[in-house]
Amino acid sequence: RKRRLEEVRGAASETKDGRSVKIFANIGNPGNIPQVLDNDAEGIGLFRSEFLYLENSDYPTEDQQFEAYKKTAEALGGKTVVIRTLDIGADKQVDYFQLDKEENPAMGMRAIRICLTRPELFKTQLRALLRASAFGKIAIMFPMIISVDEVKQCKAILAGVRAELDAEGVAYDKDMEVGIMVETPAAAIMSDELAKEVDFFSIGSNDLTQYTLAIDRQQTKLDAFFDAHHPAVLRLIQQTVENGHKAGIWVGICGELGADLTLTEAFLRMGVDELSVSPPLVLPLREKVRSLDLRK
Ligand code: PEP
Ligand code: MG
Repeated sequence: RKRRLEEVRGAASETKDGRSVKIFANIGNPGNIPQVLDNDAEGIGLFRSEFLYLENSDYPTEDQQFEAYKKTAEALGGKTVVIRTLDIGADKQVDYFQLDKEENPAMGMRAIRICLTRPELFKTQLRALLRASAFGKIAIMFPMIISVDEVKQCKAILAGVRAELDAEGVAYDKDMEVGIMVETPAAAIMSDELAKEVDFFSIGSNDLTQYTLAIDRQQTKLDAFFDAHHPAVLRLIQQTVENGHKAGIWVGICGELGADLTLTEAFLRMGVDELSVSPPLVLPLREKVRSLDLRK
């Protein structure tokens, strides 16, 4: 088995009939970079930036964030690194944020909602990300989006930060891609409108499943009711891919479902452009892709 996986290292992530898909890796901190490279991922499809906040006892500074993003961008050479902005709240709590105790934190003040409520915090991260974009191929992704208006607010804040850097003469990648996670039913349903605002979608199947099925992703007692392959979730994924493609943007999956080999063929038939999975799953997924023939 190990030898078989070795054989797909360096090989194209392509089906027998020539359909290619990008296989990226998900990471939680720059310490995971060697794993990404060892497993021959074609990029990073989800860099969960929370580690910077979870590791610290106070807000990480712009420079601390910049160094971490720069290091990652440089290590990946010219390969894409999709960095997700702060996704604190719900299952990822940090004391110094002093968030109110909530009855339903998964549906509460979290992720982009914190960033739009506290733009100074958001701007610090965006400045760090833009500055780091001069050292590799960084893309930014906003989590937990539910509306076009939120995307417009994010883009307005980003434009403000760009203008600031321009005024200071600080270099950044002017072509940096900006995308969103599609991980709420609202975003999937509105994906036709949202696609006109961004450069890519990355489907967060973990939260998309949780919110579509109304089943807490951390609640194992509900396993009897949980169906990871629920047709409602698969339909939302398909709809998101179709709407993304109609608007000419690429669509990936960065939730756990992207690594589910029993769904790889279905995802390729839907036209998914990128699958981002945990580093050890990159080669098994590539092997699966290479075994498929979509003409059959
Ligand atoms: C998801 O929700 O599918 C996702 C990739 O993000 P996280 O697991 O960090 O919430
Ligand atoms: Mg999520």
